Amino acid sequence: MNKKIKCPECEYENPINFTSCIKCDHRLKNAQYYTENYKDFYELFNEDNQRILKKSKLTDTAYDTVLYNIINIGEDNIQLLPEKASMHNLLNITKPYVKVQYDNSKRFPAYLSYYSYNNILIKKTTDPSLIPTAILHEFSHHLFNEIIKQCMMHLLNHEKNLFIESFAWYLSLENTFIELSGEFMAHKVQEYFLPDDFEGFTSVIQLLHDNPNLDEEKLKEALYFGNAISKDIIYILEHFITPQASMYGTVFENVGIEYPIVELSVDEKLDKLYTLITDAFDRILTDKVEMQATLSQMNKNYIYLNC
Ligand SMILES: [Zn+2]
Ligand SMILES: [Zn+2]
Repeated sequence: MNKKIKCPECEYENPINFTSCIKCDHRLKNAQYYTENYKDFYELFNEDNQRILKKSKLTDTAYDTVLYNIINIGEDNIQLLPEKASMHNLLNITKPYVKVQYDNSKRFPAYLSYYSYNNILIKKTTDPSLIPTAILHEFSHHLFNEIIKQCMMHLLNHEKNLFIESFAWYLSLENTFIELSGEFMAHKVQEYFLPDDFEGFTSVIQLLHDNPNLDEEKLKEALYFGNAISKDIIYILEHFITPQASMYGTVFENVGIEYPIVELSVDEKLDKLYTLITDAFDRILTDKVEMQATLSQMNKNYIYLNC
């Protein structure tokens, strides 16, 4: 295939599957390619890659490399010494990773902010004093997605592309348990860096409230996993931000969560992450036609939101 997409900025002819111009980095509007192209999808989601995934193992050395790769995205772009989590510093830190913008729309009226396709959207109505903690929360979601992507890239020895991105988006929202892990993780990061601005595990409590019949063992496992991942996100962020000491002295952890949180070992955490990735991959492969459409739609949203 040698179809090209012309950059609207500098007119350079880029390969059609590129999302930004090689020459000038301008965003390329190639949504149509990603909703109509089956080749890239099947090049990633096929039986050969399924076999490779099954044979691979997510070792702690590999996982360390994954975390370093993520830290490097920031370190290559900013040379900040760790500072406090003010709005200004957070915008600098998030810049190499995600786009932060205000959302004027009427979507999600109950939220302060949300994370969608590599964008952090802050509701225009959000009180300015809550914006840093909101950015930190959403950025944690993004970093968790980045961990999933980098693990996939490592396990399959594959470059990042939009289907790797949509795989991570799909996985992190696939069911209530993984959503619980993600929300618990993001709130733990807020609790750690901005204890006095931390408003509690609101979205975890909301999810538990909305889903009263969840299997309790699975629910607890989801919280333990979220807790384990929060430590890695904190580890990444400590390269850029120093946690703020609480004005009130002691921070009481996990307030409002009725389950005692068990610390997972590194092996338990990596097993869980590996299983999430391979299971999601298997499900995509079992239902290829529908999943091709679902993941393509996610990519289309991503391209539109980033243009
Ligand atoms: Zn260009
Ligand atoms: Zn959240």
